[in-house]
Amino acid sequence: MPPQYRDRHHHYRDTFYGKPEKRSIDDGRVLVALRRDGKNLAVNISLSPMKVLGKLYILTTLYIADRHHQAEEALVISEERLRLAKQAAGLGVFEFDPKRKIIHWDERMRELWGAESDKSVTYKKFMAVIHADDLESRQAAIDYAVDPAGSGEYITEYRVTNPIDGVERWIATVGRMHFEDGHATRLVGVVRDVTEQKTHEKKLQEQRTESETLFTQQVAARTASAIAHELNQPLAAISAYSEVALHALQTDTADPVKLKRALEGCVEQAQRAGRSLHELLAFLQKGDLITESLDLNDIVKEALAIARSSGFGGFNPKLQLEQNMPAALGNRIQVQKVLVNLLRNAVEAMRGAGTAASAITVTVQTNAGAKMAHVTVQDNGPGLDPETTKRVFEPFFTTKTRGIGMGLAISRALIEANGGLLWLEPNTMGATFHFTLPLAP
Ligand code: ADP
Repeated sequence: MPPQYRDRHHHYRDTFYGKPEKRSIDDGRVLVALRRDGKNLAVNISLSPMKVLGKLYILTTLYIADRHHQAEEALVISEERLRLAKQAAGLGVFEFDPKRKIIHWDERMRELWGAESDKSVTYKKFMAVIHADDLESRQAAIDYAVDPAGSGEYITEYRVTNPIDGVERWIATVGRMHFEDGHATRLVGVVRDVTEQKTHEKKLQEQRTESETLFTQQVAARTASAIAHELNQPLAAISAYSEVALHALQTDTADPVKLKRALEGCVEQAQRAGRSLHELLAFLQKGDLITESLDLNDIVKEALAIARSSGFGGFNPKLQLEQNMPAALGNRIQVQKVLVNLLRNAVEAMRGAGTAASAITVTVQTNAGAKMAHVTVQDNGPGLDPETTKRVFEPFFTTKTRGIGMGLAISRALIEANGGLLWLEPNTMGATFHFTLPLAP
């Protein structure tokens, strides 16, 4: 008892003993108790008198009333903090019932969607202002979120045209689906206007693409002249030897010794040319190859992100990723580069033929027998004719007006440097490229 209540408390206690009656905890009365640290504590109290073997016992239950108070206060404070954070970040909050297609949203959402606050929002209104080109990727994100086998995560970006001011904005949204009995029941999430960031990114991307093209062209030109330089001399020699041989055969005086020497010269020069090219490649690829354990499922996702950020995005490939895929061994950057090259080729082929670029499938699986990881990139484009099929891996072979024809040659060299193989599956609908990598020990 705090000192100031002690006298009164004695009095109350004596009165209670005179007529002990049960008093329940929820009669609303709050008693003040003294804590060991000297602070007062508000408590609710219940008293239950009972007689045991002629003796009076009082069972007393104390319930700390302040805790309740504190929790309520903490809730108000945290709600206030949340509100401030939301305001500072310009976040809009929404709740969506995927089954009944009902949406609840806050003022900021209404502002972004150009909805009047006194009118109710319908799902139709919500969808009507989303850019047609972004509906497919948004639907894919929803499909992913409602899948009870997944994490329930909902992440997507799309454009929204505000019907009031007519302004198009990029909206980034993040949410989480809630499930009941394995059914998606409620999606709670936030949206943010990321238009400025997007515009900035696009500008940067344009600059990057421009300088990359310039760089690739320079590299290609330099590589071409280096190769020409290496081949010029042996080719000239082979040509001269061949002429000697031809001449010897045309005249009746064909001297087998001379003929043999000329042909040997051809062989030797051809081999020398091959060696020079090898050395040149070794020089171009110099530096130790740093390999690490790779989660190919992750690398596929990273490559997609790179593809999107390097200007040929806007496609949603189907991913068939093996669950619990064992780690592969390779150089992360190089494997990413190969995937990006294959995706770029697939997208370019399909765009060129006017096919929807969503029909690309990337498969990751283990080839347990061979102890290799196996990745397949398949598209539904026009595919390759027999002549192209023969030559796709040749350096500088291209059928594109602005192509350089180094993509597949470099990709194959990179995969082979990582201990794997890269090949084109013959006679498929569209194009199907495969590559393998060794599994990590
Ligand atoms: P580039 O893309 O610069 O032409 P690549 O080595 O990447 O160089 O490809 C060489 C050629 O192979 C392309 O020009 C194209 O004709 C063909 N090719 C590559 N991938 C595909 C594909 N997925 N579908 C159809 N043709 C393809």
